[in-house]
Amino acid sequence: MIIQPEILKELKEKLLAEKNRVKEELGRIAKPNKTEGDYTTSFSEIGTDEDENASEVEEYTANLALEANLEKQLKEITEALERIENGTYGKCENCAKDISIERLRAYPAAKTCLDC
Ligand SMILES: [Zn+2]
Repeated sequence: MIIQPEILKELKEKLLAEKNRVKEELGRIAKPNKTEGDYTTSFSEIGTDEDENASEVEEYTANLALEANLEKQLKEITEALERIENGTYGKCENCAKDISIERLRAYPAAKTCLDC
């Protein structure tokens, strides 16, 4: 599919903004590892009381799930940006059909078309 340059630029900017947002959120709850895009959830020490320990574990468990989700988002965004670079952006990974511009606008990291 030929995506008009100005639309592609708009989608790329969206992806870059989204990437920064996700990275910022990840930075709040996790520490980056040596591998780009890989993070480890931080365990915050609130206190040593039993109650405090329970909150720490609770917070850590919630952050663990959030971190996995954000890491997945970051990976999808990075892959979408790579597809823009190598010219395969906008094609469904599943059926190789073009993904509609409306869908890409709503979800620029989309890998598959609406039918898939
Ligand atoms: Zn498809």
